Amino acid sequence: MRRYSIFAVAREALRYHSGWEKAWASPEPKKRYDVIVVGAGGHGLATAYYLGKVHGIKNVAIIEKGWLGGGNTGRNTTIIRSNYLQDPSAAIYEKARALYEGLSQDLNYNVMFSPRGLLMLAQSEHEMRGYKRTVYANNLQNVETRWIEPKEVKKLVPILNIAGPRYPVLGALYQEKGGTARHDAVAWGYARACSDMGMDLLQNTEVTGVRTAEGKVVGVDTSRGAIDCGKLAIVVAGHSSVLAGMAGFRLPIESMALQAWVSEPIKPTIDVVVMANLVHGYMSQSDKGELVIGGGTDGFNNYSQRGSWHHVEETTRALIETFPVISRLKMLRQWGGIVDMTGDRSPILSKTPVEGIFVNCGWGTGGFKAIPGSGFAMAELVAKGYSPLAAEFGLHRFKEGQFIDESVAAGVAH
Ligand SMILES: Cc1cc2nc3c(=O)[nH]c(=O)nc-3n(C[C@H](O)[C@H](O)[C@H](O)COP(=O)(O)OP(=O)(O)OC[C@H]3O[C@@H](n4cnc5c(N)ncnc54)[C@H](O)[C@@H]3O)c2cc1C
Repeated sequence: MRRYSIFAVAREALRYHSGWEKAWASPEPKKRYDVIVVGAGGHGLATAYYLGKVHGIKNVAIIEKGWLGGGNTGRNTTIIRSNYLQDPSAAIYEKARALYEGLSQDLNYNVMFSPRGLLMLAQSEHEMRGYKRTVYANNLQNVETRWIEPKEVKKLVPILNIAGPRYPVLGALYQEKGGTARHDAVAWGYARACSDMGMDLLQNTEVTGVRTAEGKVVGVDTSRGAIDCGKLAIVVAGHSSVLAGMAGFRLPIESMALQAWVSEPIKPTIDVVVMANLVHGYMSQSDKGELVIGGGTDGFNNYSQRGSWHHVEETTRALIETFPVISRLKMLRQWGGIVDMTGDRSPILSKTPVEGIFVNCGWGTGGFKAIPGSGFAMAELVAKGYSPLAAEFGLHRFKEGQFIDESVAAGVAH
């Protein structure tokens, strides 16, 4: 595949853009692959990419029932941070954040990574103590975060009302290297790189069954026929329990809708990401000028990918006290995605009771930021059967009670 560069743009400008190739191929399925990855979201695509790049495994199919990046990967609010409390979380999220820094160059695709800084506001004594504790933990984990006082918060976010009547801002957990990236571009960049390595991206192909023999995976049934495989990676977020059911085991996952929305575009107003977890809302500004706003999950399990009015009302109302300027904005559009929640709010990267089947799920409301690190670890797990980054995120933790409790860092925040 031809490289994207300034010279390519100039050349194509001169010949009326007639020479661009398709970014990825749409082949017919082969009879057999060494590895099948189910789910062409960011995590599935990144898993395939590092399987090829790091482990030289390129006879790979990525099977997607819709279009690539059309699940949560294309529906999230793109927040990237690694300020988690527990050591295994900090390690995998920081690996991901670090990979994001060079991802555009690595993939030769502009993922628009924007490390603009991220603040988690403390609006109660309890949050203040929790975030200060996270700063201490992060310092020990080599994750750069610091505690900042209200004055500095106001300087970074002039539109913030730090003296709110109910929840004044008492300070913030600040990660200067946190930020955002363009979510579609992350999926498209990985997809193009996978296709370039000779992997098959099979869109509009639903996995309808998992075939096993003597406790080992041998293939999948799909809407385009049966396909054999040596190993199977299930990376389908909100549909993880459905796929696990097909393979004959259960996962400690609950699926529910998480919603987000954007305002009408306005002039540059806020150049950091701000999360107000106490009132349950967060906000950043997109390159187009829209304020990107999100809140909490639905209060019941469901497989809905639509928004609902009461979420927009509740979250926007909650944020208005802290950001009075948004009270006069029109909200433009709203959507939802199906997030996969575990009890300890940490992901699952694991072998399963069926030999040759691996799962990567449970990223819940916060997996966009983890895509490169998760793909890197998952590829290692699939290729070698063990990954130090994934070791503590196995299914064994639910049997042994070795939970990785991230309810403060991930229960509300994304
Ligand atoms: C509104 C919202 C806001 C969010 N905000 C953030 C944020 O700011 N920061 C952050 O870090 N995270 C955020 N997240 C979470 C993040 O989006 C997800 O954790 C992440 O995108 C999960 O990626 P994935 O690749 O695992 O799943 P997905 O992108 O959902 O991909 C899974 C794919 O599997 C496919 N699939 C399912 N079943 C089958 C089948 N039977 N056969 C074939 N294919 C199948 C689906 O079609 C889908 O494309 C947010 C999520 C939502 C919904």
